[in-house]
Amino acid sequence: MKIISDALELKAYLKTITKSVGFIPTMGALHDGHLSLIKEAKKECEFVVVSVFVNPTQFLAGEDLAKYPSRDEADKKICSLAGVDVLFLPQVKDIYGEDEVYVSAPDVRGYVLEGATRPGHFNGVLTVVNKLFNIVSPDYAYFGKKDAQQLNLITLMVKQLFMSVKIVPVDTVRESDGLALSSRNVYLSTKERKEALKISTALYEASKMVSRKEFVVDDIKMSMYKILGSLEIGYVEILNREFKIVEEIEIGNTVILVEALVGTTRLLDNIWL
Ligand code: AMP
Repeated sequence: MKIISDALELKAYLKTITKSVGFIPTMGALHDGHLSLIKEAKKECEFVVVSVFVNPTQFLAGEDLAKYPSRDEADKKICSLAGVDVLFLPQVKDIYGEDEVYVSAPDVRGYVLEGATRPGHFNGVLTVVNKLFNIVSPDYAYFGKKDAQQLNLITLMVKQLFMSVKIVPVDTVRESDGLALSSRNVYLSTKERKEALKISTALYEASKMVSRKEFVVDDIKMSMYKILGSLEIGYVEILNREFKIVEEIEIGNTVILVEALVGTTRLLDNIWL
């Protein structure tokens, strides 16, 4: 596995690769969720590039940028064992200069849910993903359904900016008890980890109700709020796959999303029905 930190060096190197290129952008502290994206890419592509870059522009003032977990050595091992061809490990100065050009998230979809709690977050996400796509020029790029709004906005950006990369959504990987894997789970104390389980439990309850043909959104939300109980809820939202609010669930076209604060850690989870 080649490790490259210079953007132009990577771009020049990838120009020599004639194989199909799969790309997985990450912020590192890799876990089995990231690994499942890498495995999908390995199945579909002849050449796989992973980036590890904690993107400062997607963090708001006061968020966890300074303490975001960093595990470069473990990440290198995980990527190498998984058969990654190139690991891109840039520094901030390799990606950003002065007086930057930014990609703006759309006024509506970029400022609801996560975008409402973290205004401007998606400008940073779209800007860095745009830069990374321009450096790597992948044929396929893999994103987790766990970050459903991010996936939705990146898919929209690719369509609206006429980019030629194909976005591949990958299912959420969970712990055996249901907790969605996240690099931020390391912040949770034992007690908080137990509390955090309420999120996936609420989502499972919602999917059970739907399988009993209970499709009314308000009833489902009520049951979820009961389970989430004492957690500080950011949002519980039931949307269609275009991210529009619905009153009744339509199977095959619904996403149920939860954001809650557990201790000081903001956790996201969702299910696609
Ligand atoms: P991050 O390092 O948190 O920026 O995540 C990098 C990519 O991994 C994003 O596309 C995430 O949606 C995806 N991802 C994070 N957690 C999971 C998970 N538990 N299962 C599947 N994909 C995930």
